[in-house]
Amino acid sequence: MPRQAYVNGRYLPHRQGAVHIEDRGFQFADGVYEVVPVRERILIDEEPHLDRLERSLRELRIAMPVQRATLKLIARELIRRNDLSNGLVYMQITRGSAPREHAFPAHVSPTLVMTTRQLKPHREALLRDGVAVITVPDIRWRRCDIKSIGLLPNVLVKQAAAEAGAYEAWQVDDQGRVTEGSSTNAWIVTEDGTAVTRDASQAILNGITRLSLLKVIRAAGYGFAERPFTVAEAKAAREAFITSSTSYVMPVTRIDGVPVGDGRPGALTMALRQQYVDYMAGCAAAERGAAATGSAETGVGA
Ligand code: PLP
Repeated sequence: MPRQAYVNGRYLPHRQGAVHIEDRGFQFADGVYEVVPVRERILIDEEPHLDRLERSLRELRIAMPVQRATLKLIARELIRRNDLSNGLVYMQITRGSAPREHAFPAHVSPTLVMTTRQLKPHREALLRDGVAVITVPDIRWRRCDIKSIGLLPNVLVKQAAAEAGAYEAWQVDDQGRVTEGSSTNAWIVTEDGTAVTRDASQAILNGITRLSLLKVIRAAGYGFAERPFTVAEAKAAREAFITSSTSYVMPVTRIDGVPVGDGRPGALTMALRQQYVDYMAGCAAAERGAAATGSAETGVGA
């Protein structure tokens, strides 16, 4: 079966998925999205991802197109139809389609699109050597806490990274402090072994991987701090890494060409990566167990 997508109530071949030319997502980037990682056919951290989706919608006064339980059913059905083992489910909700007018239309139904993507395991070289980041000015709006589909600044800086041969671009505020990557949260490890990541505010997207890793760090008893750090502090740090639903915990070994620490992936970084992978395996096992005993919230196994 060709890859399937879900568009406004219908499952259809991915290539045939389409929305109206006056969809406000297309015309104004008037919408939000979520990327939920899938491991061993199971959605990881589904509840926090859906909490964040609902929060983003509330902040923009866009209605939920369907109930949360229905979103979960659609995601599971797509995983099933697409035989998705490892990868992601992408959800996008826009305010809907209406004659082009900046103010909210009076009568509009939100557009819901869901797709999946199979992802290969991370290349061994990335984990062996770590990745490079460049630093760039953060030119985004002041509501980066909303997971808006308005991603043009993120696109531009990611392209700058690609052209510089780097994996990611760390955006930097007016005070020289790193906010986050184009699609990842930024972390360093200080000389005394403290894992540092910027505090959640309207300056960053509060990554679900960031939040889950903080839980893992707390449970393991490692030191951590949620505070801003400068580019200079990052370049002098012992270790650095990034987190996201698709990168998990990825070691950063060069910042603007400067080696971080000894230029190799850090020991704490790699320990945290392993513990995060174990955390995901635990989530998948728990969800499978709940589905087997029929106690899964939706009652549908993936
Ligand atoms: N920051 C930005 C700007 C992002 O776009 C993303 C993910 O898309 C993240 C951080 C990481 O968030 P998560 O861990 O929920 O994938």
